Amino acid sequence: MTVLTDDLVLVDQHCHGVVAGDLDRARFAGLLTESSIPTNFDSMVGLALRRWCAPALGLPAHCSVDDYLERRAEWGWRRVSSRLLGAAGVRSWLLDTGLPVAADLPITEPVEFADIADGAAFEVLRLESVAERVAAADVPVADFLDFVENEIRDGIQAGAVGLKSVVAYRTGLDLPAEPPTDVEVAAAASAWLRWGGKRMDDPILLAWLVHLGARLSAELHVPLQLHTGFGDDDLRLHRADPALLGDFLRATKSTGATIALLHTWPFHRNAGYLAHLFPHVLVDVGLAIPYVGDRAGSVLAELLELAPFGSVCFSSDGFGLPELHHLGATLWRRALGRLIDDWLADDVLTVADAEAFAVNFAAGNCCRAYGLTVPV
Ligand SMILES: [Zn+2]
Repeated sequence: MTVLTDDLVLVDQHCHGVVAGDLDRARFAGLLTESSIPTNFDSMVGLALRRWCAPALGLPAHCSVDDYLERRAEWGWRRVSSRLLGAAGVRSWLLDTGLPVAADLPITEPVEFADIADGAAFEVLRLESVAERVAAADVPVADFLDFVENEIRDGIQAGAVGLKSVVAYRTGLDLPAEPPTDVEVAAAASAWLRWGGKRMDDPILLAWLVHLGARLSAELHVPLQLHTGFGDDDLRLHRADPALLGDFLRATKSTGATIALLHTWPFHRNAGYLAHLFPHVLVDVGLAIPYVGDRAGSVLAELLELAPFGSVCFSSDGFGLPELHHLGATLWRRALGRLIDDWLADDVLTVADAEAFAVNFAAGNCCRAYGLTVPV
């Protein structure tokens, strides 16, 4: 790996907390996959775990999974998390706080996460979770829409630096260019609340919510993150192709909103194309990086085929296991280093170009979009 990327300080655009408790083998294996079936570790991410996480816990690289889990049990979740997060070289973490692991597995909130990681943590508000929380509080139907908007504004006022939608999981990314009318939204809200207001999966309400997110993004200068691509088995992958966002992105391109396309794999080339078309689009390949393991360089190179260099951010999408945060950062840094080495060898760019471009990918682009201080 090049010296250039070894020392790069990262800012993680999107991740989640870690489980605040010890995990047995089955639960650990259940969190090292996007499937509902626990992994048998016989995969790229399993290899990456043994290669890159084992040394961080003082074990030889490529040690057995049994030895790894034994060390994990011996150290306990807090020490393991502190070591893996601390060794990731990430200064700031943007945490989506809207995703629970399981009822009996608590997940660290941003303050505790920052303490364990010895870094800074910022909250990103998940729009659907805010709306579902407001619905659960039994607000009058007539006030529901205003309450949701006020709750989001309050969250940003309290320090949240971004908004996030998982509409890809609900009705998909084929969003209308214009928000639904007030009459349509009021009728949809009334019907949804009458049915109990649990999981928001009404297409009109979701279109309203995402457009609200875009409006607040422009007004309050907080990026709106959209889950795209790869995800768990609640997702229908074909509905998560960011190419479906064409009308929505065209409609929001001049409003001042910033739209961050998260994950994007296997549609990262489509996402790169959208970033090429629309200057208000950010892209990352978080989540994919830990899972594709040694193939991270190919994924990053494909994203960069069309994505302008000012649009590319780093994210790990680590969730539950600090191993995923660690692998996201380590593999991404390594992939970028190899890519830059190749480009320098081929005289594609100068060392000064490479340095600027690496720092912007690692932290600069993200910090400018979210109003954070660029780490030095
Ligand atoms: Zn996530």
